[in-house]
Amino acid sequence: GSETRDRHESEIRSLIGEREFGNYVGGETVLASAGATFAPEDPTIAEPIMTVPESDAGDVDDAVAAASDAFAEWRALTPLDRGDVLREWSAVLRDHHDELARLTTLEVGKPIAAAREDVETGIRFVEYYASVAAGKEGRVPDGGTDALAYVEEEPYGVTGQILPWNYPLLLLGWKVGAALATGNTCVVKPAEQTPLATIRAAQLSAGVLPDGVLNVVNGSGETGAAVSGHDAIRKVSFTGSVPVGREVMRAAADDVTPVTLELGGKNPFLVFPDADVEDAAETAAAAGLYNNGQSCDSGTRLLVHEDVEAEFLDVYLDAVASRTVGDPFADVSQGPLCHREHWESVRDYVELGKSEGATLLAGGGRPTDAPTDGYYVEPTVFGDVEPGMRIAQEEVFGPVQFVMTFSEYEEAIEVANGTEYGLASGVFTRDVARAHRIASDLDAGSVWVNHYFGTVPGTPFGGFKQSGIGRECGSEALDEYTQSKSVRIALDR
Ligand code: NAD
Repeated sequence: GSETRDRHESEIRSLIGEREFGNYVGGETVLASAGATFAPEDPTIAEPIMTVPESDAGDVDDAVAAASDAFAEWRALTPLDRGDVLREWSAVLRDHHDELARLTTLEVGKPIAAAREDVETGIRFVEYYASVAAGKEGRVPDGGTDALAYVEEEPYGVTGQILPWNYPLLLLGWKVGAALATGNTCVVKPAEQTPLATIRAAQLSAGVLPDGVLNVVNGSGETGAAVSGHDAIRKVSFTGSVPVGREVMRAAADDVTPVTLELGGKNPFLVFPDADVEDAAETAAAAGLYNNGQSCDSGTRLLVHEDVEAEFLDVYLDAVASRTVGDPFADVSQGPLCHREHWESVRDYVELGKSEGATLLAGGGRPTDAPTDGYYVEPTVFGDVEPGMRIAQEEVFGPVQFVMTFSEYEEAIEVANGTEYGLASGVFTRDVARAHRIASDLDAGSVWVNHYFGTVPGTPFGGFKQSGIGRECGSEALDEYTQSKSVRIALDR
């Protein structure tokens, strides 16, 4: 216990030290004008890391003004030149890879290996958009014989990005990569639980990105609302929960600002009898428990064909049991959950599952050997789950999975599609025809066959139904950050 605590205290000293973690506006680290602060916690030791400014609407105005001043110059660069600048920023981020990963582990509680993946993916996305944005070109439709018509793709101007706490730098890369590469400028509002790596990544753009191109304002939901409701922000991209997504959409509606919403998921993972059941079972454990289940695309609803249930459970429960829980700076499968309120909510869901009549097949409590009094939950599995139960319908966002069985294809599809969400899905089968058929039948923005977590930079990511609006990643994200202008010039007068 005290060893872990010492480790974290020394990480805080070396990562934070005298460094300033304020807002980042117009190329400078600044304090919020009212002097208010909040204190993100290290969830492993349940203690505040430091204080960060809580921004009010005036601070958001300042960031928007900086982003607005920077827009004309940034937009005037060719996409290739903007790409060069973004690659330069990526290179600086890479030089600080270790520091950014350790900050992520500190504030999210995710294992250092996973934090490195988080940072790497974020950087990769910036590099991807630096490379592909030049391909987002206009077109020349047939304008009639006496006129020339063409379509220009233009940036919106100042854009707002509101982030959750589960993948801070990965999501920063997704969002600002696409926004900046297409010539927009950004005002980013990180989650109040996890602002540090984001602030640092923005500070590391100093001297590379022109001042004001990338700004960060810190604070809670009120600061987020000042971003989504700002009349000079022309496009808002939000990742977070469904209820807050609705609020963001309502606020944006006042100025008819377009929104991209990446919301929750309750994602099915289907195993057919012809699958490589062992592979499916091992992948299933990772699909639900990676990042402590704190992924919008976690595969939590395991739907297993009754003929292979016993074989599946054998391997799957072993894989769950072999997951190690402990200090995220050590070599473990999972650390604590990200913050106290969330931890309480996950524990409430475990109690709810029991009271709804589901049977605990694994976990359910706090690991007895947890190294500190941080926000730990054991990897947890429920059996005897009915599709209508609340635990089978609502997003838990923790290390909690549910096993259900099916006998017929149609039944599997009905259960898989039977929630208000439609973000991701996994299918294990070796029948090619079935794979294509189910890919078409599932109501989900992503279908991953014989693997899970299949998003790569080129593939769009986003939700059907209440899982969201619009797409991130891929060339689709470039569409989200540009608006088409039709020009038609008469040639006959
Ligand atoms: P959250 O919705 O509580 O908060 C997300 C962000 O919104 C935070 O920065 C918060 O400060 C801000 N916010 C809160 N109230 C606001 C308001 N009224 N107006 C504007 N901004 C406001 O979500 P969370 O708890 O941080 O993250 C967990 C959720 O995010 C889960 O539901 C998860 O599924 C979802 N998520 C989705 C994706 C995806 O890509 N679809 C990815 C990661 C997380």
